[in-house]
Amino acid sequence: MTFKCNRDGSSPWTVAIVGAGVSGICAAIRLRQAGITDFIVLDKGDRIGGTWRDNTYPGAACDVRSHFYSFSFEPNPDWSRVYSPQPEILAYFEHCVEKYGVTPHLRFGQEVTGAKFDEERGLWTLDIAGGAPVEARTVILGCGQLNRPAWPAIEGRDSFAGASFHSARWDHEVDLKGKRVASIGNGASAIQYVPEVAKEASHLTVFQRSANWIVARDDRAYTQEEKQRFRNTALARLWARWKIYLVNEFDFLAFLKESWLRRRREKAILAWLEEVIPDPELRATQTPDYPLGCKRILLSSNYFPTLNRPDVDVVTSAIARIRPDGIETADGRFFPLDVIIYGTGFETMSFVGPIAVTGRGGRKLDETWARGAEAHHGITVSGFPNLFVCYGPNTNLGHHSIIFMIECQVRYIAACIREIVKRDLAVFDVREEAMARSNRQIQDAMKKTVWEGGCRSWYKTAEGKVTNNWSGPIVQYWWQTRRPDFAEYEERPRGT
Ligand code: NAP
Repeated sequence: MTFKCNRDGSSPWTVAIVGAGVSGICAAIRLRQAGITDFIVLDKGDRIGGTWRDNTYPGAACDVRSHFYSFSFEPNPDWSRVYSPQPEILAYFEHCVEKYGVTPHLRFGQEVTGAKFDEERGLWTLDIAGGAPVEARTVILGCGQLNRPAWPAIEGRDSFAGASFHSARWDHEVDLKGKRVASIGNGASAIQYVPEVAKEASHLTVFQRSANWIVARDDRAYTQEEKQRFRNTALARLWARWKIYLVNEFDFLAFLKESWLRRRREKAILAWLEEVIPDPELRATQTPDYPLGCKRILLSSNYFPTLNRPDVDVVTSAIARIRPDGIETADGRFFPLDVIIYGTGFETMSFVGPIAVTGRGGRKLDETWARGAEAHHGITVSGFPNLFVCYGPNTNLGHHSIIFMIECQVRYIAACIREIVKRDLAVFDVREEAMARSNRQIQDAMKKTVWEGGCRSWYKTAEGKVTNNWSGPIVQYWWQTRRPDFAEYEERPRGT
């Protein structure tokens, strides 16, 4: 079915997509394929790519295998490696945007600061920083969970006289050659840039608050023959995806509290650690004191060997303050520094960024989510009609590709938007009881997982509610979102 999406320049858009990252691109492609072409994609930046545009730090790569970290409808036979580097991933998404005709829909330099629903007209109004508001019948928020750098509240942070920057805002103008460099943080980003920084710096100090479970990364370059096979045989491409799907899905078992697989993996990782870090004192700093998987399991084959270098130190004493010339720790030591890199992660609790979203009856999304974000399938929120979230609450993964989840969400959203257009609905609002039911199921299943365990992670609120992760295998999410159950939605046609 195709829809007539007449555009006379003054009428509201059928859809406004916020964000031109992986979610926004996927939504735009699928809407076009569903015959819905009357939409715009608003992005605050100056090019597409979201996280893959922002994270340009040395060593940036994806820790999900590339043949599954790509759209199902656009296989790439030319991935250079099992785990491709950031520039290649960004180039892949740029290729998709061109190939699937998304470019004319893109509007850059458009920072959405607010979104307000007018129930009478069945319209959202988006406020744009320094620009004219945009009206749309439906809105897809594709802001990502990991796009706003978190800066630690450390005394004296602004007093530092040397260069400092966040890993997601890497300052490529700063030459690290021969410098005394600190990394605050040792998470997923830091373990990728630390080995690269160590090659340049005269000395690197890693300030670590807690250890991570790190497994070796089975990375390698694909041979010309393999690429040729992927190019010529659909079956080879399909098998590559299925293999990754099955292996990663099996790994979900390791996230269950009472799991033999988890205990086996923990033992294997500790044995490997003993091999790669011979110094027992250093090894002790790298031995986690919480169950595997509670925080994201990290993949790296060169992080631990980097820590063995004589010009690299790990400091586990808490940072007391930052001074103009270095860092002072709680045990009274002082580390003179030229550069501080903040690998301190992202603000992960708001899901829709700093956008002030106002739904029916003046209801505010940040107040609705004050005690932990919830949405129906991570996509729709009761009281906020005609609004859809990609990569929303409880849709992050610890074991698989987020692109799979985004494709599920976009399929569901496109079906909802077709219904809204077809039946000319002013209001399409998920019923509170449906949303409560699906969230009860998620939180019940969550009790069986290690994410609830005794570690600090960005997966959960200060009160310990896991709001970021999906609680099961990805096939279960696909099943639940394969088509919307319209009975779960309150619908009101326009003019009634
Ligand atoms: P992160 O995993 O949240 O790590 C932040 C690091 O900073 C942790 O070591 C944390 O210590 C430390 N930290 C935070 N606040 C601190 C403070 N006040 N004082 C001292 N240390 C502090 O952030 P990230 O490394 O940027 O990664 C975030 C997420 O991005 C990942 O979990 C992953 O989902 C995604 N990512 C993915 C890839 C990929 O290859 N697919 C690569 C990079 C990132 P604690 O551990 O003690 O809290």
